[in-house]
Amino acid sequence: MNLLYYRIGFASNSSSLHSTWHVKDASEVYEYIEDTDFGWNTFVCSTEMGIQKYIAAQIKMNISYEVPKEATIGFIKHIFPKIKVAEIKEMDVDHQSRWELPRDFFGKTGVFPSIKFIKALEKYLIKTNGIIIGGNDNSDQEDVCKLLNVDCAFPDRLISETIYNSKFASSNTVCIKDKGVWKLFNKSNGCKIRFSFNDDGVIYEKSSSPELIDLIISNKCSHGCPYCYRGCTPEKEEAPINRVEFFIRDLLRETPVFEIAIGGGNILEYSSFFDLCDFISDYNNESYHFNTIFNTTLSWKDFTKENTYKIYKLFESFRGIAISVSKASEIKYVLEYLKKYHVKFYRGALSFQCIPELMTGEELIKIAEQRENKFGNYHITFLGFKHTGRGNSPQYSAAEFEKNKDGFRQFLQYMKKKANDNEWFDDYLYERFGVDTELIHNFPEIKETQKSWMYSEHEGKFSCCVDLVDGYVLPSSYTPYSDEYKVPEIPTPVKRVYTTEDSIASMTEIFLRENFPKF
Ligand code: SF4
Repeated sequence: MNLLYYRIGFASNSSSLHSTWHVKDASEVYEYIEDTDFGWNTFVCSTEMGIQKYIAAQIKMNISYEVPKEATIGFIKHIFPKIKVAEIKEMDVDHQSRWELPRDFFGKTGVFPSIKFIKALEKYLIKTNGIIIGGNDNSDQEDVCKLLNVDCAFPDRLISETIYNSKFASSNTVCIKDKGVWKLFNKSNGCKIRFSFNDDGVIYEKSSSPELIDLIISNKCSHGCPYCYRGCTPEKEEAPINRVEFFIRDLLRETPVFEIAIGGGNILEYSSFFDLCDFISDYNNESYHFNTIFNTTLSWKDFTKENTYKIYKLFESFRGIAISVSKASEIKYVLEYLKKYHVKFYRGALSFQCIPELMTGEELIKIAEQRENKFGNYHITFLGFKHTGRGNSPQYSAAEFEKNKDGFRQFLQYMKKKANDNEWFDDYLYERFGVDTELIHNFPEIKETQKSWMYSEHEGKFSCCVDLVDGYVLPSSYTPYSDEYKVPEIPTPVKRVYTTEDSIASMTEIFLRENFPKF
């Protein structure tokens, strides 16, 4: 391999540039550490102790803003007893090269990084001849090259992209290990990574417990979309708030669920809407439970003057908000509404969803161009059309529907051209557009444009749907309902008397335990 240059990240200004590489034999690499201040200066960590010192410095940067000096030293000594206290006191890592070390999902404080993850990372680096090279992007790096007494090396892109970032402190990332696979979830932007430190072809086709639960709490909605895959109407039923609260509290006591997407019908029409928002806000503030985030979906039509207060409450309580649209102008309308009413949302929290099979190619291109013109900070998800509920009517029969697919195919061609026919999802669309499993099912050609780790094809493997209205637990919210998924008895809910909820909760538990054994 003759690699001439490789860099992750942007050159926003001159700063440090630390990177993780793998070499043929780390013992042949000259270790060069002047002190334990890993800043702008050139350094090479290639021995076990050198790697430990570098990781220890990263740990210090992760926690020293939140805990006293003594606790920082104690934590690092607990993991790396051979490092001297005087060295820990001197440790620093330049802000541009800091790692975000994940916290244990069930960690009680959320302050200290996962010791198991740190040990696994250390073991991996040492076992795979990993070295850490430091320098900066403002000076000639010839000195680093001279120090590298190797004829072959390659950078560890996974490590770089997983844990390198420029955060000062306070991790937003949590981790859990399942069947030998590490799963990292960033609560602030929803980024999720599954990986193994082993190279030997780990197969991970199903998680032990669902990472995402689609929680149906209502089938009420007055928008009357003709294709509504859940067949929602204003007259339909909803689950009482006490059942919702009970389920969430019971479920999350022991289960590492990263996300709960609450919905079904229109959440703004849910009769206990404000109670629900308050519960979610309270729940997120309870220190033992803050690692699960709550998402929901609205329609662009919900952004009316009358709904302003509800919209505030929703954006205040939920971490991620998706908004269904079918035109570029509807995205513009919602963004202008949020600006006009000063509705604040977390960076990375806003996304728009559309169903390409109901749209023309021109409209899809307009949406892409609008996004590319940096109109706002949001993500776009393309959802596959679902032939359930009202989507099961004759106008959407398979033969009729085939015609509707041309628009998205035109859009795919446009995107490919934009990216010079070169891994376009990777380069041009990366982090801006996403697809759901059903769209991949409807357009298998999408797979040719993505890498296998960029999508999952099957529902019910890492996620499931729990319908608290009618008592079903299904692989997805659009799985046709059948008795095999039915919870046999739905108790008559009595406001705030949780014992009546036991049967639905326990049946849910049985289903989940069977399908996700760790439950
Ligand atoms: S698709 Fe969504 S907005 Fe339309 S009727 Fe169904 S729940 Fe309401």
